[in-house]
Amino acid sequence: MIIVKSKAELAQMREAGRIVAQAIEEVRQCVKPGITTKELDAVAEKVIRSHGAVPPFKGYPNQHHGKNGRPFPGTLCLSVNEELVHGIPGKRALKEGDILTIDCGAIYKGWHADSAITVGVGEIGEEARRLLEVTERAMWAAIAAARAGQRTGDVSVALEDIVTAAGYSVVREYTSHGIGRSLHEDPQIPNYGKTGHGPKLRPGMTIAIEPMVLAGSPDTVVRSDEWTVASKDGKLTAHFEHTVVVTEAEPDILTRL
Ligand code: MG
Ligand code: MG
Repeated sequence: MIIVKSKAELAQMREAGRIVAQAIEEVRQCVKPGITTKELDAVAEKVIRSHGAVPPFKGYPNQHHGKNGRPFPGTLCLSVNEELVHGIPGKRALKEGDILTIDCGAIYKGWHADSAITVGVGEIGEEARRLLEVTERAMWAAIAAARAGQRTGDVSVALEDIVTAAGYSVVREYTSHGIGRSLHEDPQIPNYGKTGHGPKLRPGMTIAIEPMVLAGSPDTVVRSDEWTVASKDGKLTAHFEHTVVVTEAEPDILTRL
């Protein structure tokens, strides 16, 4: 079911969004060659908990192995280079030239927010820089398309057109999503679609819009850690995400400082 929130409910979600934005910003400032992903994870967890929120990713049920899989162990999903989403924080030290996706959620008074950015570690190559630029631009185009009266397919197409025009691929298996009382709610909004198709967007709907882009083929693999999703061809990937409120005009972005 698609839930339209009241003003009071949106105010609490806005606080969840602010906490996520703050956590991502503090982590971003710590990104440098030599730091481990586990250290970055600790930075985010401290920010989230110090604001009276909790990290929804920690303990999240396994999507690939169901009850037999291990729940997600981190506060953040930290995905490096060819890793697209759901990378587990650990002992890996970042290197100059890597690209890192910082994906962060928070639950505040029962309300969720979810956001991601991909950043360079030190100086990055021209190819990586272009991939980041295109993926972020695809996110902003999708957000601009997410107005009341539009359909979810319109959001998908706005994003997909930019990605494919750049010669990149959108992910098939993971989607943008409704968000609110739960991290993942209806509607699911694929990274590809058809204009005029899918559920109609209404004012007060809250959605997490997230292009996941692969520089090469769209095929992905899930690693043996049961979580990390990487490009099958080993080429670079990028991911940007904001939680927004649908309005009659420009969407209201909750996960921005
Ligand atoms: Mg996310
Ligand atoms: Mg999300």
